[in-house]
Amino acid sequence: MIYLDHAATTPVPRAVADAMIEVLTEQYGNPSSQYPLGAEMKKRVEGWRCAVAAALDCPAERLYFTSCGTEGDNWALRAAAWQNRHAGKHIVTTAVEHSAVLETCKQLEREGCEVTYLAPDRDGTITAAQVLEAVRPDTAAVSLMLVNNELGTVYPVAEAARGLPARNPHTLLHTDAVQGLTTFSARALGADFVSVSAHKIGGPKGCGALYIGPRVKNPRPLLAGGGQERGLRAGTEATAQIAGFARAAELRLERLEEDRAHLEALRAYAREKLLSIPDMVPVGAGTAPHILSVSLAGWPSQNMVNDLGSQGICISAGSACHQGKPSHVVAALGLPKRVAAGVIRLSFGPETTFEEIDACAQALRRHRDTRMPML
Ligand code: PLP
Repeated sequence: MIYLDHAATTPVPRAVADAMIEVLTEQYGNPSSQYPLGAEMKKRVEGWRCAVAAALDCPAERLYFTSCGTEGDNWALRAAAWQNRHAGKHIVTTAVEHSAVLETCKQLEREGCEVTYLAPDRDGTITAAQVLEAVRPDTAAVSLMLVNNELGTVYPVAEAARGLPARNPHTLLHTDAVQGLTTFSARALGADFVSVSAHKIGGPKGCGALYIGPRVKNPRPLLAGGGQERGLRAGTEATAQIAGFARAAELRLERLEEDRAHLEALRAYAREKLLSIPDMVPVGAGTAPHILSVSLAGWPSQNMVNDLGSQGICISAGSACHQGKPSHVVAALGLPKRVAAGVIRLSFGPETTFEEIDACAQALRRHRDTRMPML
């Protein structure tokens, strides 16, 4: 199998699975238990928190484990809206956020908030000036993703954070950094909330974390109960998942420079190979090294995904085709119909090889040469 969909999820390295198995079978204590098995587990959870915090470059005591990136996105937006509920009910976000942010915004709209959805240009670009101009005296929160999961575009979160206090000192800034984990420093970004997820960096599914910065006063607990996660997210800690997240983060940090160079080389190689296929065009001005978005203009992306899938090659339609309609991200770019219909996403991991890119490019070329385009 050739797996070119690392933005969807990543394989779990053996060392990560081993760390999880040890916790499941030997270190199975509940961190809240008072005897040594529990106390030991509590200590280890704090050690794992430090390991994941190192991957975000944030203080460990400001990091809260969650069940996924989606949970972090939901929690951050609601916590920001709650803190500023007396100052205003306006939220600024973009039309290209993950549905974890967009659906939470829609819920908040039903609860009385007003949301401004910023449109990108044709390249998927959104500027910090655009974000800041949309901020008003009643803006409770801004949610601006760090790396777009379909296009690989990197958004100017740090610049928005620097400009925000002059526009409105109360507005809290959230960034969904799920696709950027290990490429940023939360300290340098300056966002008040940063959400991440384990399964995008070789960790298990069902585990994430939310950084909550010092401007968030008495954050509203997400789950009430036994007081875990310093009283903000109750529920017995998912110790094996957290152990896996920490080990995955350590492994990625150990090889950060090599992996980045490899991904950049892969992406440049894939871009050149794919764009040499007739009718293949670039989509967006993404620069994230693990994501490449292109379109075989005129050939429906779902057919490509199915055709390559039947040959054991996994690529994505960029979450692109929901019952024949382009994804909300592709739709937001306002591309011509034939280009929008053919958008595919390849995404790479440290394990991806150049030979796999060759095989994928060959299969796409064959698809182009043997399948009928849309009318
Ligand atoms: N945000 C972005 C940008 C993502 O790419 C994803 C997952 O695809 C999520 C949020 C959701 O993360 P999770 O699958 O951990 O809920």
